[in-house]
Amino acid sequence: MHSEVTDLSLIERTNIASMTAMTAFWFFCVGASLGSFLNVVVYRLPRGMTLVRKKSSCPSCDQPIEMRDNIPIFGWLKLHGRCRNCGWHIPIRYPLVELAVAAQFVILFFVELISGGTNLPVRQPDFYAGVVWTVWYLKYPDLIQLYFFHCLLLYLSLALLLLAVDRQFPPRRLITLGVLAGLVWLAIEPQLHPTLGLSRWNMPQRSPQRWAAIWSGLLGMASGAGMGTVLGMVIPETKAGTTQSALIGIFSLSGLYLGPSTVISVTVLALMVHLCAGAMVAPRLSHLSLAMSLVVGIHIQILAWRHLAAIPFWPSHAQPWQRHTEILAVVVVVVTLIRQRILDARLAK
Ligand SMILES: [Zn+2]
Repeated sequence: MHSEVTDLSLIERTNIASMTAMTAFWFFCVGASLGSFLNVVVYRLPRGMTLVRKKSSCPSCDQPIEMRDNIPIFGWLKLHGRCRNCGWHIPIRYPLVELAVAAQFVILFFVELISGGTNLPVRQPDFYAGVVWTVWYLKYPDLIQLYFFHCLLLYLSLALLLLAVDRQFPPRRLITLGVLAGLVWLAIEPQLHPTLGLSRWNMPQRSPQRWAAIWSGLLGMASGAGMGTVLGMVIPETKAGTTQSALIGIFSLSGLYLGPSTVISVTVLALMVHLCAGAMVAPRLSHLSLAMSLVVGIHIQILAWRHLAAIPFWPSHAQPWQRHTEILAVVVVVVTLIRQRILDARLAK
């Protein structure tokens, strides 16, 4: 149904392909730089240090990092993971975080932005998709905002997860910023919750729609916080204070940014990932496997939102709310039983 213009010559096609590649690379660079900033945030916020005024410096010898070494990912590779001044081993986590954010930006660029929003529920995908219309002509302002809105959610989730890895509580400044940004942005652009079904062509009265979007965000945040609390109590290894706080924080933000109708779906996805891959997490981080699964679950939710909602019985905006609770109850029982079997098997060894 949606597609780019089809009757193009080879040269035109090559042009568009190279334009797409260059734009994707630009998004990759932006993502990598924001990933680099994320490393700074996660290191400095809990230490009460300033985020912008101080230049990047080596945590070991405190020498400022030279401009030529401060290029995300490549700087680390060029230095073979060591500080130029003191030879300190720069943890591989730094380039990995930069790569992760860059990958988030690029994957969402292809799946959500230049696809014309084919991953989104309710919202009609744009007929003329592709990089020329969506990025260079900014033909669909709601889509580009949805893209950055979702990037922000993924970015904040990753920040809370990394802080939990360092056994830090979610900093109040970060949570406040995430919540305020979400609510204000929703008030300005109510279509950021696509499940509300607000049409971008027919918005005679913006004010009720703004309130509907804010309410949807608050409701999502509350249900997310509730779900995070319940899961934190049910799953024993998340007991550590920082782990549970991270779980509640990430769940609340996910509910706020994606809406209340996604909370159960994200929970089911997170539990499924946790069940399949939870045992693969290194023992040092096993207490965080649910929070990690949750971050993966949020990614799947955004990338496959429309397809998930099309599955019969999948808890989504298309289902009555009673069905959500039924599905959740079944999932919780199944997960608990399987986990009990795994734990029993481990004890028996
Ligand atoms: Zn150093």
